[in-house]
Amino acid sequence: MLHGVKDLRVEEVEVPKVGAGEVLVQVRGATTCGTDLKIFQRGYVEKIIKLPTIFGHEWAGEVVEVGEGLEWPRKGMRVRAGNSAPCLHCAMCQKGKYNLCENMIWLWGAYAEYVKVPSRMVLVNMQEIPQQVSYLEAAVTEPLACVLHGVEEAGVKLGDTVAIIGAGPIGMLHLLAVKKMGAKKTMMIDLVDERLDIATRLGADETINGGEEDVVESIRNLTDGYGADVVIEAIGLPATWEQALKLARKGGVVLEFGGCPPGAEIKVNAEQVHYGELTVLGTFHTTPLHFRRALDFIASRTVDVRPLITREMRLEDIRKAFEVLSTSRNEIKIGIIP
Ligand SMILES: [Zn+2]
Ligand SMILES: [Zn+2]
Repeated sequence: MLHGVKDLRVEEVEVPKVGAGEVLVQVRGATTCGTDLKIFQRGYVEKIIKLPTIFGHEWAGEVVEVGEGLEWPRKGMRVRAGNSAPCLHCAMCQKGKYNLCENMIWLWGAYAEYVKVPSRMVLVNMQEIPQQVSYLEAAVTEPLACVLHGVEEAGVKLGDTVAIIGAGPIGMLHLLAVKKMGAKKTMMIDLVDERLDIATRLGADETINGGEEDVVESIRNLTDGYGADVVIEAIGLPATWEQALKLARKGGVVLEFGGCPPGAEIKVNAEQVHYGELTVLGTFHTTPLHFRRALDFIASRTVDVRPLITREMRLEDIRKAFEVLSTSRNEIKIGIIP
């Protein structure tokens, strides 16, 4: 249970009771996420998470109870679901912007033995996991879905040069995705050499340590002086949002992916946007369509997420897992096993 900033406790709670249309799943694997770490360290908007709550949102497991009125799923099925389900009938949903649904429901509770999936989520965002996919791999569907939505909006194309700021789990997933989309050259930027080494092992063509090198100059040198076709910010700080703008070529695209603290503002050079035809876009979360696609990509190993789970820990050590994540230079995602 998360009670507040840095206040995560292991508690015994009742196994949730299942009502009509709902499904109870025994969690078999969960994965830690940058968002979880952010919430643990600094809190979050109440619209999305109300405290105290069971924590975590990336999970997969086995169906143990199926509520009245459901023909699918069946007991014993391996599934993943959530962490969101749009309503399909608000103004945003009607425009196809399911990720911006006005009535979105969010599901927390990955770091637990059981999770109850609400009926709407069973209908629009629960999938069966193919046999060859492990529970931990399936748990990574959520962040990959967010990344697939982002790179699709950014319009990454065959032959693009792509600079990614932040070699954390989200930056790494972007790296894997844009390589599959045909990026000609991927350039990873971070302050931690150990993370950049992991990025290299995952296929990054170039790595830049922003603490040791002039990032703008390095990106220029690696792109014949022009800047990158696509720049992706995967940290969520105003300083790196601004840095991202400086790394794009004329006519390039900047995807500001990482969520900044509330109230944050950035400076944008109007000349660069106008004369340089810069496209700056933000993307938030993802849609049921992308959850489906992400799981398919994980299953086909089109995007192999296994190397991102760098360690496994038991559920009772969840506090320690977050301490490890707060300080470690080597861990990307920790698999949590109940
Ligand atoms: Zn996540
Ligand atoms: Zn809606």
